Parts: sequence; C-alpha cells; structure tokens
Amino acid sequence: MSKIALITGASRGIGKQIAITLAKEGFDIVINYRSENEELEELKNLIKENNVKCLCIKGDVSKFEDCENIVKSAIEEFGKIDVLINNAGITNDMLLLRMKEEDFKKVIDVNLVGTFNMTKNVAQYMMKARSGKIINLASVVGISGNAGQSNYAASKAGIIGFTKSLAKELAGRNILVNAVAPGFIQTDMTNVLKDEVKENILNNIPLKREGTPQDVANVVKFLASEDCSYITGQVINIDGGMLM
Ligand code: NAP
Repeated sequence: MSKIALITGASRGIGKQIAITLAKEGFDIVINYRSENEELEELKNLIKENNVKCLCIKGDVSKFEDCENIVKSAIEEFGKIDVLINNAGITNDMLLLRMKEEDFKKVIDVNLVGTFNMTKNVAQYMMKARSGKIINLASVVGISGNAGQSNYAASKAGIIGFTKSLAKELAGRNILVNAVAPGFIQTDMTNVLKDEVKENILNNIPLKREGTPQDVANVVKFLASEDCSYITGQVINIDGGMLM
C-alpha cells in the first residue's frame, strides 16, 4: 500500500521540490496550495509521471476551517496520511519600531498557528493508526534570531518548541516529529533580498554557496523514509555550516 504525504504550501519553492522528491520515492502526494498558479497543473503532471497519485487542495493554513477541509479531503481520497510536512511560510521583514501589530500577527498566524492547525487535524488520524511522521519547516533564524525578522524568528522558534513538545506527546503512538532548519535557500523568499544583503549572508556560509530546495528536500526525504525510525524531537540545520 502506498504511503501518503501531505505538503503545505507546495505550489512553489521548497514545498514544490519536496513534493517532487517524495513522488520519486513512491509516495502519493497531497499538495496544499494557497493561490492559483499556472505551474500547478504542470507540477501535478510531473508528480504523476512517477506512477503515483496527486491531489491538490486549496486552502490557507492560517485558517483552522481550511485545514479541517484539507485534511478531510485528503482522508476521503486516501484514507490516511502517513507524513505531514508543514512547509507553508511567509516573511514580512522590518525593524520592531516600524512593525505594526498586524505585521507581527500575520507571520505568526501563517507560520506557527498554521503548523498547529494542520498538525491538530492530522494527528488524530496518525494516533489512530499508531504511526506517522510530522516534519516542520523551522529556520536557523529561529535559533539565532535576526535583526528585522523578530516576527519570523519568533514564529520559527515557536515551531521548534512545538516540534519538541509534540515529539514527547506523540512518541507513545509511534509518531515521529522533527524539524528542519534551513539557512539561506534559493527561492522566491530570498530572491527579494538586495544583492549586498545576499553577499553578506554568503560570506558567512562556510560552504560558500546558497542552498537549493533540493538540499532541503533530500533531508526531508530521509526523515519521511522507513530509514528514519529512531529520531524524534530533533532540529536538523541545512545551512552549509552557517550556524555552527
Ligand atoms: P516561498 O518560495 O515563498 O514559498 C512559500 C509557499 O508557502 C508558497 O507556495 C506559498 O503559497 C505558501 N503559503 C504561504 N502562505 C500560505 C498560507 N497561508 N497557506 C498555504 N500556503 C501558504 O518560500 P520557501 O523559501 O519555499 O519556504 C518554504 C518554507 O521554508 C517556509 O516555511 C520558510 O519559512 C522555510 N524556510 C525558507 C528558507 C529560505 O531561505 N528560502 C530558509 C529557512 C526556512 P503562495 O504561492 O500562495 O504564496
């Protein structure tokens, strides 16, 4: 019987690469997306080339009802969810003095509350199945902090605390909960940065290059696989050595 992986925010960037990578491993894929995107149909076909199924469900992870609907639709189609990847995330960078309450809350709502909303809805099925894997996208910034990203860093630090707490709570049901903490990965999220900012970040990466979405997807692939059976509550940095 095929394994089912649900990836949030998988229409582009890291989430998209995770979806493609897991499809190659034989997972049936549930893609959650927020906005219509002309590449979605192409992605669906790319996934299906691996002789796996692909279901795309629209929804905003910051809304609990949307998450209920995403999970219900996935369960109706496949009857189970083996792996949940909480990938959807946003930034809204600015210094604290300029940051309004809504600028702070918006990022927390998508990144942290969204992770709660999806996990809460999926965990009940994993608990009944007495098996499952939850993989959360944190960030090195959630460990180190970063000027101009107090909202984002707080959301990612929150995800790390959430990951460790749930790892303890769900271990008895054989559900593994881990996080990955990417550093500087080449996606739309980082493309918006000014060249001098990028240059400065690159100078602080021992491996002297940006990461790729595939670098992240490869670690997620391992955490989602049968090979990973004795790791839980961990945060794995994927950052070219930036934070060591
Ligand atoms: P990205 O290219 O900006 O893609 C983000 C994805 O999340 C998009 O598909 C977006 O959909 C989706 N999304 C945003 N808000 C959503 C919501 N409310 N509900 C559902 N989907 C939503 O970002 P990325 O670089 O791939 O980042 C993926 C994850 O890795 C994020 O959690 C990010 O914080 C984390 N991360 C990235 C880096 C990096 O350097 N890139 C570093 C550390 C951590 P739309 O197309 O609708 O906007």
